[in-house]
Amino acid sequence: CGQCTLVCPVGALIETPHWHTVLHTLDTRMRVSAVQVAPATRVAIGEEFGMEPGTVSTGQMIHALRLLGFDYVFDTNFAADVTVMEEATELLERLKGTEHLPLFTSCCPGWVNWVEIHRSDLLPHLSTTKSPQQMHGALTKRTGFTAALGPEFANGKAEPYVVSVMPCTAKKDEAQRPGISGDIDHVLTTRELARMIKARGIAFAALSGEDSFDRPLGESTGAAQIFAASGGVMEALLRTAAHLRGHDKTLALEWHQLRGVAQGIKVAEVPGIGKVAVCNGIAAAQGMLATQTWRDAYVAIEVMACVGGCLGGGGEPKSIDPLILEKRMSATYALDKVAPKRCAHENPDVLALYATQLDGPNSVKARALLHTHYAARHSKRLLLMRFLDCLDRRDS
Ligand code: SF4
Repeated sequence: CGQCTLVCPVGALIETPHWHTVLHTLDTRMRVSAVQVAPATRVAIGEEFGMEPGTVSTGQMIHALRLLGFDYVFDTNFAADVTVMEEATELLERLKGTEHLPLFTSCCPGWVNWVEIHRSDLLPHLSTTKSPQQMHGALTKRTGFTAALGPEFANGKAEPYVVSVMPCTAKKDEAQRPGISGDIDHVLTTRELARMIKARGIAFAALSGEDSFDRPLGESTGAAQIFAASGGVMEALLRTAAHLRGHDKTLALEWHQLRGVAQGIKVAEVPGIGKVAVCNGIAAAQGMLATQTWRDAYVAIEVMACVGGCLGGGGEPKSIDPLILEKRMSATYALDKVAPKRCAHENPDVLALYATQLDGPNSVKARALLHTHYAARHSKRLLLMRFLDCLDRRDS
């Protein structure tokens, strides 16, 4: 992935395959297993099986995961809805004062890694809300919300084997971050999942498209689905922030000025909230951050390291179609358009989670389970370059 190569300091730019290990673990059936699937996967995996780009193959993918041996198939989108609830509340809290504004989104580990290594002055601006992958892992392993599924899911008394399928090589590194490692056992890319399906001789295209995600942790809204696209995280956030501010009857649900792949920076003025921006790729963010104007211009900024967002992630199928991002993006927004519920705060299972386990968004319990922290760090490559630089200067 060109974008990941720019931002990945940890070796995730060279994809470390885990699919053999995952298959072996599933075959032993030693532990109850659960898998979560990111929103960008369902609109791309079909390409690996000869389907047209932008074909939505959610049902086939779930069916294939069950045939591979997963006991439970969950949806990362559930946690994306929770991410919206936490991050929208966090934004409105920050808007009560002026500190640490604008708020930067933090669900892209490529972007977070870049900030930690190159711009530690931005750390206080990053949302502390965990990414959907990490939230889902924490909810699966560490709450009583899934206890009805079996003892393995009851507050970590026994431990389910938890796998995620992501469009992203950097998500493998994210799952190992200090403070949050252990909630996801293995991360697979979309391409790796396709390899597993092929290795087991499963006729993906012939599978029924009727299968659906298990609950809880499987119910989601259109807002979660658009997390896959550049601009989608911000749009989802605005829908719920407007609701929390009491503006949802007057504000638009769709923010078309934040959509698309043609522009590097996309901007919208949101009545009652302020001006927001979307950086479509790390190069666009670097350009914006090279000046100081962003500091006073915006209240919130979304950054996704890959152009097009996760739809252009390094773990997605490779394609020579010049319109690949547009096709995957159209499918993503079409899923949102027909979703029975399109706002995170309308997800009944998310509301049940807050009512039974978490005392509401940004509560003490929610912050303990669903938020994280960041710290300045140096990449091995950066340290090596500095070391060589020192040697050079000593010799000259
Ligand atoms: Fe990964 Fe998505 Fe970020 Fe790309 S935009 S690095 S795929 S999280």
